[in-house]
Amino acid sequence: MTDKDKNGETLSCMDNEYDSSILQLDQALDHILSSIQPLQSIEQVAIHRALDRVLAEDMTSPIDVPPYDNSAMDGYAVIHNDLPANGETQLKLTATIMAGAPYNEEIIPGHCARIMTGAKIPKGTDTVIMQEVVVAQGDSISIKTAHKLGENVRRAGEDIRKGALVLKQGRKITPADIGLLASLGVPEIKVYRRLRAAFFSTGDELKPLGSVLQDGQIYDSNRYTLFGMLTRLGADVLDMGAIPDDRNATQDAFNTAAANADVLITTGGVSVGEADFVKEVLEQQGKVKFWKLAIKPGKPLTFGKIDQCWFFGLPGNPVSAMVTFYQLVLPGLQKLSGQATLARTTVKIPCVSQLRKRPGRLEFQRGVMEKDAEGNLVVKSTGDQGSHVLSSMSKANCFIILPLECGNVEPGSEVEVQPFFGLV
Ligand code: AMP
Ligand code: MG
Repeated sequence: MTDKDKNGETLSCMDNEYDSSILQLDQALDHILSSIQPLQSIEQVAIHRALDRVLAEDMTSPIDVPPYDNSAMDGYAVIHNDLPANGETQLKLTATIMAGAPYNEEIIPGHCARIMTGAKIPKGTDTVIMQEVVVAQGDSISIKTAHKLGENVRRAGEDIRKGALVLKQGRKITPADIGLLASLGVPEIKVYRRLRAAFFSTGDELKPLGSVLQDGQIYDSNRYTLFGMLTRLGADVLDMGAIPDDRNATQDAFNTAAANADVLITTGGVSVGEADFVKEVLEQQGKVKFWKLAIKPGKPLTFGKIDQCWFFGLPGNPVSAMVTFYQLVLPGLQKLSGQATLARTTVKIPCVSQLRKRPGRLEFQRGVMEKDAEGNLVVKSTGDQGSHVLSSMSKANCFIILPLECGNVEPGSEVEVQPFFGLV
């Protein structure tokens, strides 16, 4: 007994109930993360080639940063003891010190040095007075009271101490990290090798771009979203095309992928349709689990291994494929690529749309986070939430995560939102 709900997804009469034979998202994720271990191959790359790569070693600092005490201002390096308790004092100017040209003589009491930002603090001095509060006349300066010992001096090692842990193994290298490594004088780092990710679509109805659609045919979109998501992850991708619903073709494609990739991702063919050969071939060939997940969209999912190649069989519906990829495949591939598992960012904000939801499954509805007229962050629905409505993913900038037991959501209620920018 099935019917269509307003969101366009086929519902069974079980949907209103808590079905204990189906798996919760967390259980599936735990299983994936405890099965997959990071790839062990490591390569050495120049830091400017390391953006978005995964660090394969802990990095400690070989030096103090900054490496020497230096001035935070253009001003005058002085001996704090010389400064007046009240009134003014005159100091004799003995040197001018530029960044990159340290002054090696000691400054003696009653004297001072003109100093530029970043220049090394000369011996004897301990404080820098900014030039705006000093009156200079010929080769002497006049300074008033109330300056703190050490003001405007950046201490050696203040940012990073020699030997301190700066970046941890498993970190995906950011632009700031590259700069940080450069500031330590590190030219190259060890990173895990890139994942090789193969993928193909299944379905006789799928036609390649450039062909004219006949009745009953659609363009294959999943391969393109997968290409995008895997490329963002930093994988080397192997696009194996669309494989027809045929036992031999499916079998051959599995063999090719298993021989050439660390992971294979397919879409379609994992439901109970008559032409779903993915399941049949895998039952003979691989160690796989077929899950019915208590999430919407994205109920059927297959996970396992074909020889040494990890395998994820995603649902064919385009939104289901993307939701299962982001919620389950991505964390698994991040672990495989050596990345430390990071908690996903979610925020609770008011939802300004009415959301339709039946209790029984964890839902990932598509939302747009934006500021309202008062400048407060709110989320609204993208509209039609059918699992075939790929435009909902394109319009969205976040998932609205509605818990299993939750029913319809009234405008103004707080909902949990997972921004897309945290997903890769
Ligand atoms: P399946 O999981 O193979 O039963 O497919 C479920 C739905 O997703 C069907 O409507 C398919 O036509 C559609 N579908 C499957 N694969 C793709 C794809 N690669 N691109 C777009 N739609 C797809
Ligand atoms: Mg199919």
